[in-house]
Amino acid sequence: MSAPAMFDLAGRVAAVTGGNGGIGLGIARGFAEAGAAVAILARDEAKNHAARDELIALGARALAVRLDVTDRAALAPAMAEVERELGPIDILVNNAGIARPVGATRGELADWDRVIETNLNAAFILARLAARSMIARRRGKIINIGSEYSLFGNPIAHSYSASKGALIQLTKSMAVELAAHNIQVNAIVPGWIESDMTAPMKSRPFYQEVLRRTPAARLGTPAECAGAAIFLASSAADFVTGATLFVDGGYSIK
Ligand code: NDP
Repeated sequence: MSAPAMFDLAGRVAAVTGGNGGIGLGIARGFAEAGAAVAILARDEAKNHAARDELIALGARALAVRLDVTDRAALAPAMAEVERELGPIDILVNNAGIARPVGATRGELADWDRVIETNLNAAFILARLAARSMIARRRGKIINIGSEYSLFGNPIAHSYSASKGALIQLTKSMAVELAAHNIQVNAIVPGWIESDMTAPMKSRPFYQEVLRRTPAARLGTPAECAGAAIFLASSAADFVTGATLFVDGGYSIK
């Protein structure tokens, strides 16, 4: 049985930052399965190519663009390359993200800057670039990947929680500005998801704490983030904007 047409992404072009692994690749696979052409934008070329080949094997048109999102001068050319190779971008997912320990008593300001530049500033600049192209076609979807630390305090990674909290406010502000252009801007807040980012925590007592705190009593998977992204990228969500969709096994409600 095929999915309802309102979730169909055939003919759409999606750009996913950090799409070569973890949550980004889970979303890229979901988009490809829903019929979209997908561009992956990240730094590691081997991972980029492997992800691109996987999407092509799923039957999608796919492109890998080597991009460090903290390189501001490279952002516009990367978006232009996607549009040249695949067509105008209909869907942007700001997923590339990093965490570094920076708090009142630990860490370096250079790490603060790097996290804010990666998680927040790049998302804003890419969203502006995408919006300008989308406005001309009166259609577009921008999806920002937040975090539980968009809501909660984090004892050791203030730059991470500050960037992810701001991303939710940025989502709302861009949603208000762009609604009249038929562009929807939403956020997904994943709970604890299996990925390279969370792999190291498995050996720490914190892991048991997360399991106890998560009503579903497990971590989620990147594939489980794809459904929410497909929904927000599809015409099923044409009247959904400024929203934050939690994919977290109930972590945020406990
Ligand atoms: P991973 O570490 O597995 O993946 C991060 C991705 O971002 C990689 O594809 C990486 O590719 C890319 N990336 C990092 N820095 C840059 C950069 N400067 N330029 C371009 N790409 C970059 O993490 P996750 O999949 O877990 O996380 C994805 C997003 O989800 C992040 O924003 C994270 O904050 C968020 N998140 C994750 C949660 C989790 O439990 N895993 C929970 C909540 C939110 P490369 O290194 O090749 O550039």
